[in-house]
Amino acid sequence: MISGCYRGLVNRFCERCGDGLVTRARWPNGLLGLVICFLLSIFPTQAQGGACLRIGAMAEKHSENVTRSTDGNDNKPPAAFYEVLHKALKKRKTKLENICPPSDIVARRVLEDYGAMFLANKKVMPPPVCIFTSDAQVTEFQERAGYTTELIGFDEVELQPEAMKELLKAREEAQKEDLDITPRDGAEAARRSYEDSLQLWDTRFRPALDYWVGQGRLTEAEVASLISLPLHNQIAEVLKLEKSGIYFSKDLSKSILYSIAAPGTSQHIAMLAFDVNEFDNPRVREILGKHGWFQTVLSDLPHFTFLGLKEKDLPKHGLKRAEVDGQTFWIPNVIPDDNPVNGQPR
Ligand SMILES: [Zn+2]
Repeated sequence: MISGCYRGLVNRFCERCGDGLVTRARWPNGLLGLVICFLLSIFPTQAQGGACLRIGAMAEKHSENVTRSTDGNDNKPPAAFYEVLHKALKKRKTKLENICPPSDIVARRVLEDYGAMFLANKKVMPPPVCIFTSDAQVTEFQERAGYTTELIGFDEVELQPEAMKELLKAREEAQKEDLDITPRDGAEAARRSYEDSLQLWDTRFRPALDYWVGQGRLTEAEVASLISLPLHNQIAEVLKLEKSGIYFSKDLSKSILYSIAAPGTSQHIAMLAFDVNEFDNPRVREILGKHGWFQTVLSDLPHFTFLGLKEKDLPKHGLKRAEVDGQTFWIPNVIPDDNPVNGQPR
């Protein structure tokens, strides 16, 4: 790390004090670095090292900010997800350790993939844990948070009241423009039970096992062992296999978490998610955004999350913009140094 910084520093500030410096570090730190490096050139080499290290760190940070600044609408870099999350949880009188224990790698992975909902406005209630482990626990939460039922299109769907209110407003607005916002795949588009999330997991997990056995990447014995694992360990093993390219999404090309939530973890369980049939219409996405609904799970195109926030404010709530297939996702801005489990395998 130190030698990497030093090497980067030498590259940026001592050996390339010309155009490269200004281009990469930008104003004003770049110019400052240029001037200081010029002055340093009259001092002994050792002194340059220490001073350059400090300037390097400064400009590297600035350079990173310039890159990240494109993430926000107001040209400010997005805030760090964990920083905002700590504050948000404190306001809700809880803390990260309570909802996602640091030792639980699966929970952290889930948090960083689906965690936008924890930053939702105070009119809704995010789940008290990253992973629910029983039907009873989910039922208790859903009753406490409350939900309303509405017929949208041909299906009855259920969401937390504020999320539903804004969804209906968005739908009304869409319909005025001869568009519509309807649930994808029936009632499962909104609230789901713990049991639903288990069943959906199996619709990806089981066929993928068959496929990878057919490909010779897994043996029958490995499959039997995976199936027999307690659920939490099974999820952990699946995520581990995916690191070696054995994917479990529906099309077997990406992580299962971009295809279906791990059991007990879905934003649908939190009743803050809605899968939209018309997701590929940019105007529909815009109208949903206006009402606090955003795409927050990378690559899950029809899936919208209710945050109840304005799009321009998302960066300061620890979310960064990511463009995939021409669509805008707002995902947790996890900065490695801010991640409490930095260094642990993910
Ligand atoms: Zn969904």
